[in-house]
Amino acid sequence: MNSKVKKFYITTPIYYVNDRMHLGHAYTTIAADVLARYHRLKGERVFFLTGTDEHGGKIEKAAEKLGKSPKQLCDDNVRRFKKGWEKLNISYDNFIRTTDSYHEEAVKKALEILHKKGLIYKGVYRGLYCLGCEQYKTESDLVNGKCPDHKKKPEIIEEESYLFRLSKFGEEIRKKIKQDELLIRPEDKKKEVLEFLKGGLKDISISRKKVKWGIPLPFAPHLTTYVWIEAFLNYLTGVGWEGNPKKLPEFWPADVHLMAKDIARVHATIWPAVLLGLEIALPKQIFVHGYFTIEGQKMSKSLGNVIWPEELIEKFGVDGTRYLLLSACCFGKDGDISWGKLKEKYNADLAKGIGNLVSRVITIGETLGFKSEALKLRQVHSTEIGKQIDATWKNYERAFDEFKLDKALDSIWKLIAFCDQYIEKKRVWEESKEQKICVLCLLYTISEIAKMLESFLPETSNKILCQLGLKSDEKKCVFAVEKKESLFPRLNSK
Ligand SMILES: [Zn+2]
Repeated sequence: MNSKVKKFYITTPIYYVNDRMHLGHAYTTIAADVLARYHRLKGERVFFLTGTDEHGGKIEKAAEKLGKSPKQLCDDNVRRFKKGWEKLNISYDNFIRTTDSYHEEAVKKALEILHKKGLIYKGVYRGLYCLGCEQYKTESDLVNGKCPDHKKKPEIIEEESYLFRLSKFGEEIRKKIKQDELLIRPEDKKKEVLEFLKGGLKDISISRKKVKWGIPLPFAPHLTTYVWIEAFLNYLTGVGWEGNPKKLPEFWPADVHLMAKDIARVHATIWPAVLLGLEIALPKQIFVHGYFTIEGQKMSKSLGNVIWPEELIEKFGVDGTRYLLLSACCFGKDGDISWGKLKEKYNADLAKGIGNLVSRVITIGETLGFKSEALKLRQVHSTEIGKQIDATWKNYERAFDEFKLDKALDSIWKLIAFCDQYIEKKRVWEESKEQKICVLCLLYTISEIAKMLESFLPETSNKILCQLGLKSDEKKCVFAVEKKESLFPRLNSK
C-alpha cells in the first residue's frame, strides 16, 4: 500500500447488543459514515470500524429472560444492527463482534502482557456497581444514591478480583489530554475530563466472578474479563491487531473515536491507560457528540416519546433521515427534535430547497434541448456563481476539518439559496441572449452541489448526477439532462 497517501481511521463505539438500534446509535454511525465517505473522496486510505459489544452480566440476564443462550441473543441482535446499517447506507469496512475469536485471542494476549508487567494484580475489590451501566460508580456519579441513567441503586460488590493499576496513569493521561496529544473535542468535554482527572484515578477491577458470559482471564480462567477492558481493545483488533504491541496494524493510531457523551470519560481514562500499559500509541482524537431531546424532554420509553430510526426512514427516506439528523443541531452539542420540526425541515430544505432547484433547472435544460451541451469551465470561474462555488467549497472543507458536519451542510444550503436567487435575478426561464450560459452555469453548480452531497446523501447525489448526464474533464462539462422522479416528494402538512 502506498504509504504517502494519508490514512484516516474512524471508529464508532461498539454498541451493546442487549437493545435494538436506537436514534443515538444511528446518529453516531451516520456521522461516522459521512466522515469516512468524505475522507475516501479525498483519496485517503480510510478504515471505518463499527460493531457490537457482546459480553457481560447484562446480556447474560437478558438472554436468560428470553430463554436463549447469550450467543443466540447476540446473533439475533447483531443481525438487526447490520440490517439497520445496510438500510442507512453505512459504508463500514469491518463490523467487529467482541465474541469473534480473533478479538478474544488478542485480548487474552494483551491481558497476559499487562499481568506480567505487574499492571494487573490480585486483590479484593469493593465498590458500587450499576448493572445497567456495567460500571463501577463513585458516590459523585450518583443522584440521590441512584444511577442517574438507570434510576437504580447500585449494588455493593466485594469480590476476589484482579485489578488494573489505573492509578499509575492518571497524571500522564492528564498531561497528554491537556497538551492535545490526545485531543478531546469539543473543548467543554476536554475541560470536563481534565477536571475529573485532577482527582487522580483509582485502580479498577477487571475481573468478574459471577459473570460467566465473558472472556476468561488467561491467568485465572475461573474469572471472566470486565467488559469495558476488553471492549476497548476492539479498536485495535478490529483493524487486525493480534495481540503483539510491537506489531501494530498500519491504520493505528485511530484518527478519531466518535461517541456520545455518556462514554467519553471511560474512553479518556481506562482506554488510554490500557494503551500506555501496553506501550501502544494513543488515538489521536476523541470526538464527543450530544444527545437528542424530544420537544425539550428526554427520550424515554416510559414517556412514550421515543423516535426510532426505522420510523424516520419510513417517513423521510434514507437520505432524508441522514440529512435531518445531521442538520438538527450543532455537531458536538445537544439537540432538540420533534416530528413537527423534522417534517417542516424536510419540506423546506429537501422537497423545496434541493429538490425544487434540481427539478426546476433540469426542466429548463430539457426545454432548451440540452442533450450534449458543453460548458467550458473558464466560462464559470470568473463569474459571481463561480466565486460562490469556490467560497462554498472552502467553508465546506473547513467545516469538515473541525467536525462541524451541520456547518458543512449549512454551506451547501447557502449555495442552493444562492442558485434560487440567481434564477430569479436572471429570469433564466425566459428566452434571452444570456439564457443558455446561465442555465449551463446553474447545471454546473448543481453538479458541484451533488459532489458536496456525496458524503452526506450518497443516493441523492447519484440521482442528481444521473439527471444531469454529466461527463467532464479538466476543461469542460458536458450535460445531457433528463428529468426523473422528484428527489424528495413533498409531505403534506398533517
Ligand atoms: Zn446505570
